Amino acid sequence: MTSNLVDDPYSQVLFEGLPEFLPGWVWLVGGGPGDRGLLTLHAVNALRQADAIIYDALVDKAILSFARPDILLEFAGKRGGRPSPKQKDINLRLIELARQGKRVLRLKGGDPFIFGRGGEEALQLVEEKIPFRVVPGITAGIGGLCYAGIPATHREINQSVTFLTGHDHTGEMPTALNWDAIAKGSQVIVMYMAMKHLHGITDKLLQAGRRPDEGAAVICNASTPAQQVLISTVSEIAEASEHSHMKPPAVIVIGDVVKLRGGLDWLGHANDGKELISDPLRASFPPTTED
Ligand code: SAH
Repeated sequence: MTSNLVDDPYSQVLFEGLPEFLPGWVWLVGGGPGDRGLLTLHAVNALRQADAIIYDALVDKAILSFARPDILLEFAGKRGGRPSPKQKDINLRLIELARQGKRVLRLKGGDPFIFGRGGEEALQLVEEKIPFRVVPGITAGIGGLCYAGIPATHREINQSVTFLTGHDHTGEMPTALNWDAIAKGSQVIVMYMAMKHLHGITDKLLQAGRRPDEGAAVICNASTPAQQVLISTVSEIAEASEHSHMKPPAVIVIGDVVKLRGGLDWLGHANDGKELISDPLRASFPPTTED
């Protein structure tokens, strides 16, 4: 057997019937936003069997402790929205290790198929006829909001959510996005990698008619001990976030669901002193308690 976990009868029950990680396979696994409690059983099942783990910058190192001690651990991180010349090297490395007969775990932050290049890596594996499996993870745009006490949907407020990235492969604001349509048609907007261009993005949304006093939040290092949440409005969030010196990784949410945090900040006490609030909304938006 492959892991010390399997000596424990409870673990045996936990993993019984889950797939065996076969040599020569690559598993693309989502590690969630940070808190290791948000890993799936499939992810832990992968970690306990892998021979090699290629992991990203946003993966919490504590998660790697679920792996066997003697395996190959390689960092393939990239950050900050720059084009990634290394993506091709990562693909080649996955292929190389799989061809050596290793059980290769590609561990990615959040969900592999949400702004995570999981699709690109998987397509390359298909091309090279390397067998693979994909394990979804909790994406930062959902888990992060939850840890900030902000429901992504709330019946009285929104019936849709839009996920977008604040920059494209060139590092600039995505030109393929129709900001006007997004401003007019998206009730709640959840933005990844949007800190750098937040001024530009909120300007575009306001120009397209978004209410300046609509709720907006920056959630940084969501679900980790370093989580910080900044509450503001669409017109003020860019400046407020600059003043707060909050750093990526952060998800930014635009929409009146933000006002619900006033009543739903379930992590609030645990985060004493780590919470940044610039909150013109609190007085005017009492929390809704009815569903
Ligand atoms: N595949 C990942 C996203 C990777 S892109 C997912 O599904 O979550 C990297 C971006 O994800 C970051 O710039 C940030 O916008 C967001 N992100 C990832 N982890 C985060 C975290 N713990 N807190 C806040 N944002 C996070």
